[in-house]
Parts: sequence; structure tokens; C-alpha cells
Amino acid sequence: MNILIFGPNGSGKGTQGSLAKKKYDLDHIESGAIFRKHIGGGTELGKKAKEYIDRGELVPDDITIPMVLDVLKNTGPNGWLLDGFPRSIVQAQKLWEALQADGVKLNYVIEILLPREVAKNRIMGRRLCKNDNNHPNNIFIDAIKPSGEKCRVCGGELSSRADDQDEAAIDKRHDIYYDTKTGTLAASYYFKNLADTAGFKYIELDGEGSIDDIKNTLMAQLK
Ligand SMILES: [Zn+2]
Repeated sequence: MNILIFGPNGSGKGTQGSLAKKKYDLDHIESGAIFRKHIGGGTELGKKAKEYIDRGELVPDDITIPMVLDVLKNTGPNGWLLDGFPRSIVQAQKLWEALQADGVKLNYVIEILLPREVAKNRIMGRRLCKNDNNHPNNIFIDAIKPSGEKCRVCGGELSSRADDQDEAAIDKRHDIYYDTKTGTLAASYYFKNLADTAGFKYIELDGEGSIDDIKNTLMAQLK
């Protein structure tokens, strides 16, 4: 089973991806790992990519796509879940052409839908419990609202991650994701338009539901 997953930061994409990965024993491939494998491993493509990165430039798609394809073709027997790529419509077109040319079958494309303001609040509302990182607290999600200023599970002290409060960085990432003309949503819609004729299923999930609701809807549709 080969799956492509789209969703903005704050949509729970990582959580849902991990659940699907676990259930179907897939290789979870996120874009960072692709660069690490090639650049860390010193492959020809990795060396070329590094030259661009060292100059502070974006790595061209002509280098990135072959790296992605190489990683996808060297996964375990049960297939892969690709997360964080493609990010633009051009990358989507090139990835689709490359998959076709190499005879790699795509089975599902998942899109987690979430309004931009909600996604931003979810990130900025996250609170960490001093006693246990797994105690979920978010000041903007009713189901896991802290009790007063304290952890809703154990009453421990709460803090927030600096990354989660960096509004400019969140906006920048969301600018790319929510761009329906050339950005990541455009890439997602590119696959949505292909789905009927290209032989894979496009699954839309309502990101405003609870983790369990989203999970149940997803699992019911993956066969
Ligand atoms: Zn706690």
C-alpha cells in the first residue's frame, strides 16, 4: 500500500500518518529523511543537493524528485507513506510523472482539511506538561483544555515550546501550504483531480474532529 498524505501543520497529520504506518507496517517517509539519507550517505544526488544547500539556495526539483523516487523504491515490502512532499504543484506534476515512468503504484492520497485559523490556534495553543510530555493540553481545544493554568491530567506545571509561539514561522509555512494556485494545496488538488482516472483513491478527512474520529474514518477507508 502506497500513500501520499497532505495536511497543514497543526492538523494532526503526523499522528494520523503514524497510526496508518503502524497498522499497515508501512515505511513512513518524511521529506527531511530523504535529504538526510542522500546527503548524509554522500550519494551523487546528495552531493549535488548539498551544493545548493551550502549556497543557501533551494534544491531544484530535478535533484529532489530522483532522491524521493530512490527512497520510495527502496522501502519495505508493505509500501510507504510519503509525508511532507510534494509541496508545490510543479513537484506534484513531476512526482506523478516519475511514479508513472517507474511503474510505482499509488493507492491512496489523503488530505486532512483544516481552516487556516484553526490550524494556527492549534499550534499556538499547545502546552507541555512538566511531568509528562504525553499529557495533552491545548488552550484552544475544548476536549483537552488545561484545568486553569495546570495540566488537565496531573495538575502539573505547563509551558509552551518557543517554536509553537513563533507566529511568523507558522504563517510562513501556512502561506506555502494554503496556496491553492501553486503551493501545497494546489499539489493536493492536482491529485484530487487525477484520482478518478488514475486508479488511486482520494480520501478527505475533517481535521476538526477528534483524533479517534479522524482515525476511525481513515481506517474504514483504507482497505
Ligand atoms: Zn501532566
